Amino acid sequence: MSGARQEELAASLRAVRERIDAACAAAGRAPADVQLVVITKYFPASDIGILAELGVTAIGENKDQEAGAKVAELDPDLRGRLTVHFVGQLQSNKAGHVAAYADVVQSVDRGKIARALQRGAERADRRLEVTIQVDLDGSDPGRGGTLPDEVEQLAAQIGECDRLRLRGVMAVAPRGPDPAQAFERLAEVSHRLREQVPGADWISAGMSGDLEQAIAAGATHLRVGSAILGSRPVRR
Ligand SMILES: *Cc1c(COP(=O)(O)O)cnc(C)c1O
Repeated sequence: MSGARQEELAASLRAVRERIDAACAAAGRAPADVQLVVITKYFPASDIGILAELGVTAIGENKDQEAGAKVAELDPDLRGRLTVHFVGQLQSNKAGHVAAYADVVQSVDRGKIARALQRGAERADRRLEVTIQVDLDGSDPGRGGTLPDEVEQLAAQIGECDRLRLRGVMAVAPRGPDPAQAFERLAEVSHRLREQVPGADWISAGMSGDLEQAIAAGATHLRVGSAILGSRPVRR
């Protein structure tokens, strides 16, 4: 059973790594400059164990309850070798909890969330790396993110939180035919942010369907779920 799952994940991971290598070659970039974050939401902790054996070093989750339980299930040695990213929408009452188990929170989109993460990190005596989630669409507020014009102000607010280190920007491409254009806009937002916070050079963009366009536009982090784990099981 788990042997079959191992073979399945090995094959799909290999295919995704080949896509990344090809896209990097086309863009004249080094594959080592692109961090693959495997989004394991809806899949069991046992899959995370298999992925780690296959060389995955970063995983991502998007629901607090599921993520916290799953990370707690990992054996401490395995946990120590993984970077855990939180990529989902946050409410300020949940953010404190996320700060107790995540290493990176990619979805910071308002000052209130930053302050809640700061308080949670203080309580847990931890530090977090964060990225600002940017809304590249504007017409679909349900997907979260701060508007490009508001990034500067949010970066300043994060700068007041000494437990948080701002690393860059993150976005989900708007639904539509041309993710490349959206990722170019994100690259511009990143450029402006780096003038304000020089070290904040992460660009988290690109998922199963658009990782090539994201790499072409300079993404440093990819968030890939279904292309590796398969289509997500129906949520019970
Ligand atoms: C689920 C999720 C992904 C992964 O999406 P796939 O299309 O399955 O690769 C990436 N980013 C976020 C924020 C997600 O919630």
